[in-house]
Amino acid sequence: MADLPPLREIIARHGLAASKSLGQNFLLDEQLLARIASIPGDLSGKAVLEVGPGPGGLTRALLRAGARVTAIEMDRRCLPALAELEAAFPGQLRVIEGDALKLDHDALMGEPYAVLSNLPYNVGTALFTRWLGGEAWPPQWTSLTLMFQQEVAQRIVAQPGGSAFGRLAVLAQWRSMAQMAMKVHRSAFTPPPKVMSAIVHVELGAMPDGVSARLLERLTAAAFGQRRKMLRQSLKGVPGALGALEAIGIDAQRRAETLGVEEFVSLARALGS
Ligand code: SAM
Repeated sequence: MADLPPLREIIARHGLAASKSLGQNFLLDEQLLARIASIPGDLSGKAVLEVGPGPGGLTRALLRAGARVTAIEMDRRCLPALAELEAAFPGQLRVIEGDALKLDHDALMGEPYAVLSNLPYNVGTALFTRWLGGEAWPPQWTSLTLMFQQEVAQRIVAQPGGSAFGRLAVLAQWRSMAQMAMKVHRSAFTPPPKVMSAIVHVELGAMPDGVSARLLERLTAAAFGQRRKMLRQSLKGVPGALGALEAIGIDAQRRAETLGVEEFVSLARALGS
């Protein structure tokens, strides 16, 4: 195992003062980083996509776990520190300079891959929606292990019946399993963000028969767009939705947050048929 200098030393030597505009809050505790890298299970020899390696804390934990890592980073200042990691783990790390929102991850990886990432909030949510959206299933990624603000993580794993349950929960749960893997205190980051964080882990499930992802997304957008209203009101603008509700026996007086993920799936299936 490569003997590496402490992350604080790397940050000081390469002048990596955290940039607010790039959402940089670094994790420096190597034990915590090793625990995060272990969430998806044994990574030895596996292909991993890491978005936003920064000074490389999580990256080195992944490399020590034996993963073959492709890391996308848009802050050029981090590249020399990451080049040192490439040298310490020959043939195990490939660093791509760029914006992860603009790159084709599947083409870049060219094989099934696990995703691990500690990203700024806005980028994380945008990528999450992209990884979980689309008609093609299963996707090329095999699992997602991602840091979010705790409040967002709670919305992803939420169950029906509460105000946290909405589009993100349906998106994350209708053909995959999402769980809260670890809560991370704000003091674990340098500099500490204002809010608590949490890591969500997503594993692939089966795609239900006869359901279009696009239709399901349209339904949840309408239903949760007016979440305080009854479905007969909120789904008025989706052609055929009220008939589909009746056909599968869902009371149109219910509100969106009382429907389970499976009921949304049945509704999308009925609407599409
Ligand atoms: N992974 C490191 C850690 O845990 O200490 C850094 C985490 S920091 C919260 C987020 C990192 O993502 C920063 O290094 C930032 O430059 C990078 N980043 C932000 N937006 C990005 C984007 N669109 N594409 C790629 N990297 C991005």
